[in-house]
Order: sequence, then structure tokens, then C-alpha cells
Amino acid sequence: MSTTDGSTALTAEKFAQDAHSWLEQNAQHAPRDYGAILPPELAEEGRAWQRRLFDAGFAGIAWPSEYGGRGLSPDHSSAWITECALAQVPPFLNMVGCVLTGGALLAFGTPRQQEDHLRPIITGERIWCQLFSEPDAGSDLASLATSAQRDGDDFVISGQKVWCSNGRVADWGILMARTDAEARHRGISFFLVDMASEGIETRPLRQMNGEAEFDEVFLSEVRVPGGNLLGPENEGWAVGMSALTNERGYIGAAGISLKRRLDSMLALGGSLDPIDRQTLVDLWIRGTALWAMGRRQGPVATVLGSLAKLGTTELMYDFAIFRAGLDGAAGLLQSDSNAALLTAPGARIAGGTSQIQRNIIGERLLGLPREPKPHS
Ligand SMILES: Cc1cc2nc3c(=O)[nH]c(=O)nc-3n(C[C@H](O)[C@H](O)[C@H](O)COP(=O)(O)OP(=O)(O)OC[C@H]3O[C@@H](n4cnc5c(N)ncnc54)[C@H](O)[C@@H]3O)c2cc1C
Repeated sequence: MSTTDGSTALTAEKFAQDAHSWLEQNAQHAPRDYGAILPPELAEEGRAWQRRLFDAGFAGIAWPSEYGGRGLSPDHSSAWITECALAQVPPFLNMVGCVLTGGALLAFGTPRQQEDHLRPIITGERIWCQLFSEPDAGSDLASLATSAQRDGDDFVISGQKVWCSNGRVADWGILMARTDAEARHRGISFFLVDMASEGIETRPLRQMNGEAEFDEVFLSEVRVPGGNLLGPENEGWAVGMSALTNERGYIGAAGISLKRRLDSMLALGGSLDPIDRQTLVDLWIRGTALWAMGRRQGPVATVLGSLAKLGTTELMYDFAIFRAGLDGAAGLLQSDSNAALLTAPGARIAGGTSQIQRNIIGERLLGLPREPKPHS
């Protein structure tokens, strides 16, 4: 197998063995395995972990070596994610930086933008957040109203974003804003925004599980240099959709850690009555089918990621309800099963709701008629 930096061939299997050995020696330095969303209180531990990964050559695995990456293949990246899932450690600092922003910069960035931003993502210097959703634009993202108006060489951005995971600890954000009020999809541009810019205010939002992992973000006349426009003006929709496809692909690929969860599900079986055992086996069969599909799909994000995202998050939701039910009244008290019960619904919404995934599967995979789009 060849690598983009021309180094000696390193198969994904050998790379996985190296990763496995390294993780055996270093997993104790990792923060707890927090999944796709970096909890704000783990930001510094997460940065230190990302720096350790970078120093050991386990960061930016499929990114070009001129930006600090390893120049290996998506299969190598996938092997790393699998090994991290087995070791129960985060594979990187946060998904928004390492998957969404990195992917968008590699696909649409100018050489200058790639030079400025890629390396600080994989060294852990810069945490990124995603500023897409608004109070009146979630599933229907093209309704977004945050405006970006040209002023000389700059853009001036004003509006409100919401559900911004780790916004308050982020150094930079990817933001979609309207640059043409007359158009819909074709009036949106994609920006790289320094979160320390004057005019940005973040306010934490508390979730029903007691955590406050995301924020409302208010932007009042925030001045952003024209050089921070990613992709052409008014063509930010394509950049955003590519970032969201990568997000779904990654959330689906987290199905790799499904295997571990399926094993722990089975461990419950011995103590259950026959009816609960039957429910557990049904969930386990669903999970095993998903796991097999994930393995067949491979590491590259495509529209198939919607199938995996839908399947995994719905399974985890059903399992959380089942697991808390087994605890009876105690499932209502503070406990692991209660925390899972209160967290699982969010996963069905983040990265595009289950209904939206079903629309994508229906329209783009099955070729069913498109749903009516009254605005387009
Ligand atoms: C844990 C978590 C983290 C998040 N992190 C971020 C983040 O970092 N950055 C960010 O920008 N956003 C983030 N979000 C926001 C997320 O992307 C949105 O919540 C999501 O896209 C849904 O938008 P909405 O909440 O406005 O719901 P709405 O779009 O208003 O949807 C309400 C309901 O209507 C249904 N619905 C809407 N349209 C259709 C349709 N066409 N067909 C069928 N049903 C439909 C939806 O499925 C849902 O059940 C996060 C959300 C969560 C839960």
C-alpha cells in the first residue's frame, strides 16, 4: 500500500497492531470516553490527550503530512477509531474539529486556510465548534437568518445560533450565514470564525440530564476577514452539506464501538426473566445487523451514513429505555441507567434527526418521491 508522503508501506493491519500496543501503554492518560461531543469540563484534558496523540503519530491519520498528518488511508483512520473504541478512549479531541472542520478545509480550503488551520486542529491547540442551527433553522437549515454583509474586505455577521456543542470552550467555529437575502440555498456562505472576536457572546443551555454541554451563541456585528470565507460566496450550502455528511458518517462509524456495547448487553442476559430476555435478544440482533452493515460500509462517509446513524441512535435509545426499566423505580434515581435514559434522546436529534435520516434514506438511497418543499 502506498502513502501520500511516500513513506514505507504500512498496512492497516500493522497500523492497528501498533495502535493497540501504544494504547495499552498510554490509555491511562486519556479522559473518559466522551463520544462525539467534548464536554466543556474535559476541554483541557482533551487537549492534552490530542497533543499526546499528535506526538505519537496518531492524529490526522489520513491527512496530508505537510499539515502534520500521517498521509495514510481512511482504512488506517478507521483502524485507529476501532482500537480506541476497544480501549474505551476518545479517538481525538472533538468531532467538530477533527471530522467536520478538517474535512471541510481539506475539500474546500485554500492553501492558506489549510496552512493556518489544519495543524492546530490535530495538535489540540484549537478547539472548534459548529455554528449551524438557529432558533428557527434546525432540520430546515436553509431557513437560517444569521446575516453576513460585506464591508470592504470583511464580512459583518449578526444573528443567533443555538445548540452549539462546546461553544464556550471553542477557539474557532464553522458558521453558516446568509449573504444573499433574496436567495435560499444559494444565498448561504460558510465562514471560519475566531470565537474570541468582538461581538460574540455564549450562554450555556442546561439539558435534561443535568449537563450543560451546549450553548446559545449571539453574534452582534462580528467582523470576519474575507479570507475566512470557506468556498465561494453564496456557495456555502455545498460546504455545509459535505460537513454534515462527514458528521453522520462519523456518528454511524461510532457503531464500531457498538460491538463492545453489544457484548455488555449480553452480560445482562443471565439474570433476566424470559420476556425481558426476549426483548434483549431482539435488541442484540438489531445491533449485530447494524455492526455487520458498518463493517461492510467501510470508513468513508457517504449517504449510507444515514442508515448507520439512524440505526445506532435508535437502538441506543430503545436499549436505554429497556435498561432503565429493568431497574424499576430505581431507574428514576441518579444512576448510570438513568443518565443513559436522559442522554439517549439527544443523540436521535444531533447531526440531523431520525425523521430527517429517514427522509434522506427514502429519497437518496431508495429513490422514493421527494417530500414537498414549499419554500424552494
Ligand atoms: C446533543 C446535541 C448536540 C447538538 N450540537 C449542535 C452543534 O454543535 N451545532 C449545531 O449547529 N447544532 C447542534 N445541534 C442541533 C441539531 O442539529 C438540531 O437540533 C437538529 O438539526 C434538529 O433541529 P431542531 O432542534 O431545530 O428541530 P426541528 O428542525 O424544529 O424539528 C422538530 C421536529 O420536527 C421533525 N421534522 C422537521 N422537519 C421534518 C421533515 N422535513 N420531515 C419529517 N420530520 C421533520 C424533526 O425530526 C423533529 O422531530 C445539536 C443537537 C443536539 C441534540
